[in-house]
Amino acid sequence: MKVLMIGAHQDDNEFRCGGTAYKLVQKGHEVRFLSMCNGCGGHHVLTPAETTATRAKESAAVAKLLGVSYDVWDDQQDCALVADLETRRRLIRYIRRFSPDVIIAHRTNDYHADHRASGQLVMDASYMLIVPHECPDVPAMKKTPVIMYNEDNFTDPEFHGDLVVDIDSAIKTKLEMAHLNVSQVYEWLPYTSGQLDEIPEDEEGRFKWLCGIELDKWYSDEEIMSKPMPISRGVRFARPAARFRDKLIEEYGEEKGSKIRFAEAYQVCEYGSAMSEEIRKEFLSL
Ligand SMILES: [Zn+2]
Repeated sequence: MKVLMIGAHQDDNEFRCGGTAYKLVQKGHEVRFLSMCNGCGGHHVLTPAETTATRAKESAAVAKLLGVSYDVWDDQQDCALVADLETRRRLIRYIRRFSPDVIIAHRTNDYHADHRASGQLVMDASYMLIVPHECPDVPAMKKTPVIMYNEDNFTDPEFHGDLVVDIDSAIKTKLEMAHLNVSQVYEWLPYTSGQLDEIPEDEEGRFKWLCGIELDKWYSDEEIMSKPMPISRGVRFARPAARFRDKLIEEYGEEKGSKIRFAEAYQVCEYGSAMSEEIRKEFLSL
């Protein structure tokens, strides 16, 4: 399969579907990340130009670790993504050139204006992908890809976990990947949540802080879900398995599904092609 993961920013794909991306690549599938914005807005000390350059280096390290290809629209400023016709056409051409079987994108109910615009642009592009007279300079696709939304925690309307993927074997890589995003996880995000003074100086201490939980210890679903929506990535990455435990048991059986600790959840978008059994099985056999 060719899978295109489209986030507004450099960390959206990483944190929401990075484990799935890694496992897909390990099984020989082709995965590409697109960040529609250039990261310029995500820092409190660095200038926008410095932030863009820093984020580009961090994303290159992520691409190498996961084995994905990684594009950033480096002329698109953060906090300024708009679902206009020009950007829609840019996205139509971009998707057609890669011609993915599956696209993973933001829901349009997400909190950040760039996330909503990004999700809207994917929705707006979806049908046009097969329309030959729209953007005729790049050949139209024959079939619309399957489109899925990555998970968020917004409730109006609530996200459905239609496909929940076990990433236990990828969690160490996913946390290492988060650790590579230094300017985000140890600088910008703690700044936004008022936790900058908590960050340990040394690398080992930082990584432990980032994990927030013991990776080899079992925590009950209630315990994971009762922790406040955290900055700690370990807790954050443990929440989908606790949140969609019933779905994991339905997909993987009682024996395995009840023991999965880390997962990533997706909702099937009605504007893409119908989810085939073949594609569902590929994701569940990772
Ligand atoms: Zn984002």
